[in-house]
Amino acid sequence: MAEPRPKPPDGPSGGSRLIPFHVAYLALALLGVFLLRDLWVQSQAVAPIPYSEFQQLLREGQIAEVLVGSDEIRGEFREERDGKARFVTTRVEPDLAADLEKYDVEYAGRIESDFLPTLLSWVLPVLFFVAIWMFLLRRMMSAGGGPGGGFMAIGKSKAKVYVEKSVGVTFADVAGVDEAKAELEEIVAFLKDPRSYGRLGARMPKGVLLIGPPGTGKTLLARAVAGQAGVPFFSVTGSEFVEMFVGVGAARVRDLFEQARGQAPCIIFIDELDALGRARGAGPAGFGGHDEKEQTLNQLLVELDGFDPSSGIVILAASNRPEILDPALLRAGRFDRQVLVDRPDKLGRAAILRVHLRKVDVAPDVDPDAVAALTPGFTGADLANLVNEAALVATRRRADAVHATDFTQAVERIVAGLEKRNRLLIPREREVVAHHEMGHAILASVLPGCDPVHKVSIIPRGVGALGYTLQRPTEDRFLMTRAELENKLAVLLGGRAAERLVYDHLSTGAADDLARATEIAHDMVVRYAMVPELGNATWVNETAPYLGMTVPRGAREYSEETAREIDCAVRELVDRAFDRALAVLERNRAILGGGARRLLDEETLGQDALEALFEKLEPEPEAG
Ligand code: ADP
Ligand code: MG
Ligand code: ZN
Repeated sequence: MAEPRPKPPDGPSGGSRLIPFHVAYLALALLGVFLLRDLWVQSQAVAPIPYSEFQQLLREGQIAEVLVGSDEIRGEFREERDGKARFVTTRVEPDLAADLEKYDVEYAGRIESDFLPTLLSWVLPVLFFVAIWMFLLRRMMSAGGGPGGGFMAIGKSKAKVYVEKSVGVTFADVAGVDEAKAELEEIVAFLKDPRSYGRLGARMPKGVLLIGPPGTGKTLLARAVAGQAGVPFFSVTGSEFVEMFVGVGAARVRDLFEQARGQAPCIIFIDELDALGRARGAGPAGFGGHDEKEQTLNQLLVELDGFDPSSGIVILAASNRPEILDPALLRAGRFDRQVLVDRPDKLGRAAILRVHLRKVDVAPDVDPDAVAALTPGFTGADLANLVNEAALVATRRRADAVHATDFTQAVERIVAGLEKRNRLLIPREREVVAHHEMGHAILASVLPGCDPVHKVSIIPRGVGALGYTLQRPTEDRFLMTRAELENKLAVLLGGRAAERLVYDHLSTGAADDLARATEIAHDMVVRYAMVPELGNATWVNETAPYLGMTVPRGAREYSEETAREIDCAVRELVDRAFDRALAVLERNRAILGGGARRLLDEETLGQDALEALFEKLEPEPEAG
């Protein structure tokens, strides 16, 4: 994948980044040289001894041989002393030779020079560090670019690493997002034959922005476009452009486009565009790297404007936060076409499941449509994960293929968390949990329009759940009426109502239910204006459209008085739901008790058992 490097890098990018490195390295190396020298000298194991001791040893016959310098005598002991075999002493005695003769020591009058050892003690460490230096520089060269790039090329695009000559993904691997696929078909046709497209003077959109929640297959789609058209795929992630040093990111953008131009027709894909294209000035002020981001974004805008669409380059980008993108990116002539990649509906989920089921051994009893019905709200990535989980479940029980039951187990595991069978509850707590869950289940069965209960269990799961009631929607819902939401609130509060009715206590077990109920009630008041007293105005600040959540903007924008009314309305909704739940359970107290007992016996009750149990449920008493 070695591309010819077009030209030596420009701009301040390469060199400026290296200077601190060199300085730091030099300082470290110097320190190292001194340390190593010390070690080297020590390792010579020379014992400095006073001259008198030398004479003493000489007399005792402990000296084997000496080298006499002009003012030093170095030599070797006959036997090691304190681990040292050699010694050095400053010479004092002039008529040494006679003494040496007397005690029968071999000696030489050669004047030993200190030069060589000293030289070695300096040169070796220096050589050592120079070698490391060269090695590091070589490494940086290859990281910064190919041969000839040199370490100055450090600011060069990493994009080259990510260029894929042929992508192994096609539209056949993407399912459930048919509208997006249809939009992108045109791009594929253009890439296949850029020239004939300009025949009537129409021009291709330069940039296509894929927007949608995480995991819906945006990255996958971009790759599929390249694979389908059979063109090279240059991909980078927005955050890769954002470098610590000002100018590096901009140089990368320039380089990326330059390389792509050499390979047209091709696709440049910028994933997570929001990391780079955040509205200028919107980030936390005074934060480091801000200038850098701005420069990089500007460079991207320049490149977008600067290239000719008929050259056969299409730029795709993906983001799950389009609302924070800089408006300049979205204007005509830049990312002027936006394709929504939304969560799949039931049919879409079934189609995605079929794609991923191809990769595992499935038993004939697995029906993708049934699994799709179990998984409303799942994205493509969730479904891919589900298939994998199911395969893991099947593997664990040593099955020959993945069966339908493996899928239901995997769904439960993903929705409710892992079973924690070893979390032992004391009997009294199990009883409370059984009544609590039965309370949810009864309300969900009695109130109209609630998702049917699929399973009730008192096996602890996940992080905090002591039991769970699994409701399964029969279809995707896009609209909810006030009555339906109120019923949902009552189901959520059914657990606490059952505890209240049977034990006359309030426990911590309902914390999660209460939080969810309050959240729904709050949305009913401030987002959907479902409370007549507050009129038709809404009181949300700002909504992130693709994540369906409210972005807190700090200050609320309504009066103290409205705030109080909102609080009252929310409280009233939740309290009314609790009263309804209590009333229903009171009327069905016998079934509640019986159901809880069976739950204590069997731990888990499936749909059929529940239906039988709930046959004689009394409906909600008439309001009033
Ligand atoms: P995004 O970029 O939107 O966050 P990805 O494209 O990275 O999502 O999707 C992650 C994985 O989920 C993909 O690799 C694929 O296995 C699976 N996936 C997501 N959407 C789809 C889809 N529409 N069809 C098939 N598989 C999908
Ligand atoms: Mg992605
Ligand atoms: Zn509950």
